Amino acid sequence: MKQSLETFNRLMNALLEDEQQNPVSKHIPATDLYDRLDLSLQADGIDTKNLEKALKDIVLATPKTATPSFFNQLFGGRQEHAILGDLLAVMLNNSMYTYKVAGPQIGVEKAVLREVCNMIGWDENSDGTLAAGGSMTNLMGMIMARDAFNERTRFDGVHQKMTVYTSADSHYSTQKNAAFAGIGRNHVRQIPSDTEGRMDMNALRRTIEADITAGFHPILINCTAATTVLGTYDDLVAASQIAKEFDIWLHVDGAYGGSVLFSEKYRHLIEGVELVNSFTLNAHKMLGTPLSCSLIVVKDKKYLYDSFSNDASYLYQTDHDDFNLGKTSLQCGRRNDALKFWVLWKSVGTNGLGQIIDKQFELADIARDYVRGNPDYTDYSIDDTVAICFNYKGIAAEDICTQLYENSELLVGYGSFKDDTFIRLVTVNANNEKQDILNFFNTLEAFVANNKELFGE
Ligand SMILES: *Cc1c(COP(=O)(O)O)cnc(C)c1O
Repeated sequence: MKQSLETFNRLMNALLEDEQQNPVSKHIPATDLYDRLDLSLQADGIDTKNLEKALKDIVLATPKTATPSFFNQLFGGRQEHAILGDLLAVMLNNSMYTYKVAGPQIGVEKAVLREVCNMIGWDENSDGTLAAGGSMTNLMGMIMARDAFNERTRFDGVHQKMTVYTSADSHYSTQKNAAFAGIGRNHVRQIPSDTEGRMDMNALRRTIEADITAGFHPILINCTAATTVLGTYDDLVAASQIAKEFDIWLHVDGAYGGSVLFSEKYRHLIEGVELVNSFTLNAHKMLGTPLSCSLIVVKDKKYLYDSFSNDASYLYQTDHDDFNLGKTSLQCGRRNDALKFWVLWKSVGTNGLGQIIDKQFELADIARDYVRGNPDYTDYSIDDTVAICFNYKGIAAEDICTQLYENSELLVGYGSFKDDTFIRLVTVNANNEKQDILNFFNTLEAFVANNKELFGE
């Protein structure tokens, strides 16, 4: 084992050095992949020296997500303490279903969940769990909503025409999850959003009323905090009034932006979160922990037990259910995703988590000011978000993003809102500085200037 750890250290030193020299890995077209790298598997193994060489080639060719040139998704950078925590979790290799197998790690997970619930303002009756990502924690929210509506569902299956409400700009997991939960994709009502991508609450109310009249059973309102493209936060206070009036479960998909919970300055974006039934947040997005680290917390833990517990005498043999976390989880065997978040939180404190969030908004302001102050750019961004949406010199966003990628310049993606498509720069890497943001624009501009033929200029 020690030898493998030494190999690991050498590989990581090589990676860290390479990140300085080559912040964007050389693009390998997918069609060439197997020719360029030794990925094949054989009947016989190879010696450690050749293994290390093969690994090094693969590691250095892998897209780099921690450098100041990666803006492609809603994660990026490295929080070093979180990395430390995740490496420990790999070595310890516990499974989070029982206290017997995970011991203090159960306490770690419970401490994280407890403190998140406290920060929301929920009492001891609240609880939560972690699952493999935001899509999965959203699924758990939907299943609890379904079972809360009719507790027989988990025994008898779905026999009612249930409907789910989410904004047209929400994450696609709602559709998939409706299929998984037996509700059906056709029973997801996409509520139109306003000019900034916020769910239209009047339309929500009208749609619910029409569905009830038509014999449907509304079971879930899914609010988004924040939307994947523009970064818009739905109005939780208004949604909670409608949810209360019609007695519908209210879930907040905060996978992307729910982490503003930790920022004194930006927490107002999720004002009313204490009023909802369940809330998802991905620490692997704005908080910079490694993938994946997705939490769901519920105001009333009864629903978590009702929907997810199952007796298993081969598994639960000691200790109280409160410490056998398999009683409230989606999976059976479950990776320890809490430790990395705990180590980060322990090391920088709640204030430090707030600073991570605030830094991203600060970088976003720098980027937004740059775009708004430069006539070559068309701005599509809203305020108070870490997604800066723009086009440059009227060039199609898809063309710029793809060319930057294929020429190994920058990794950035594009998105659409209503009739517009634009580049989406996400300032989610809190290790970046102002200069890194300015470098992004400089690189983009120089690339366009030097490759006019690519863009028909
Ligand atoms: C990223 C995201 C998800 C999905 O989370 P995963 O961890 O990628 O499964 C869900 N909702 C929103 C709003 C997101 O941005």
